[in-house]
Amino acid sequence: MKSDKPIIIVLGPQGSGKGTQGKVLAKKLDIPYLKTGQLLRDEIASGSEEGKYISSVIDDGTLLPDEYISKFMTGKIAQSVESSGGIIVDGFPRSNGQADAFEGVVNPTHAILVDIPDEESIRRLSARRRCIKDNKIYNLITNPPKNNESCDICGGQLEQRVDDTPEAIKHRLDQYHRDTEPLIQRYESMGVLHK
Ligand code: AMP
Repeated sequence: MKSDKPIIIVLGPQGSGKGTQGKVLAKKLDIPYLKTGQLLRDEIASGSEEGKYISSVIDDGTLLPDEYISKFMTGKIAQSVESSGGIIVDGFPRSNGQADAFEGVVNPTHAILVDIPDEESIRRLSARRRCIKDNKIYNLITNPPKNNESCDICGGQLEQRVDDTPEAIKHRLDQYHRDTEPLIQRYESMGVLHK
């Protein structure tokens, strides 16, 4: 598939702020921003059978199989590139297998690595809270709500994601180092990596 705008992958450990940076860039470049974790949570919220399966895997703190997530994401990526010419993707690919599937649709023009040490990842994610009504994200350390219990905007109750406990975060970081970090070398070799 051909594109006339950037095809950007944002890479980095959980809590690095890649989503925040991705959103800013998407606005600036006027291209869609696709956040894998959010698309999965939307599917769960729809109450579909697929959502029930996704929920069981996410709550477990493990990754969805490459084949499953690749099918889930490549269709959405192709659609966005076709309608907008470019895209920023956060949370996919997370392994070489997923990167193969991505490149089967379109080649990335940039891979942006936002890196932080594990301890910082754990510190930030343990303090993350989300409004159950409007999904607004807070951080008790870096971006606290006026009241620890409720959303500043809509007053909705704030909750901690099931997979944001220290044990689950450590598990996700192990997966990041094992499966996702090899992509840094891959994109460096392709000449598209920006740290
Ligand atoms: P995130 O919000 O990016 O931390 O994603 C939340 C959860 O969704 C992860 O812990 C995984 O269970 C699942 N997930 C998100 N992206 C992927 C991916 N690229 N491959 C496999 N599972 C994923």
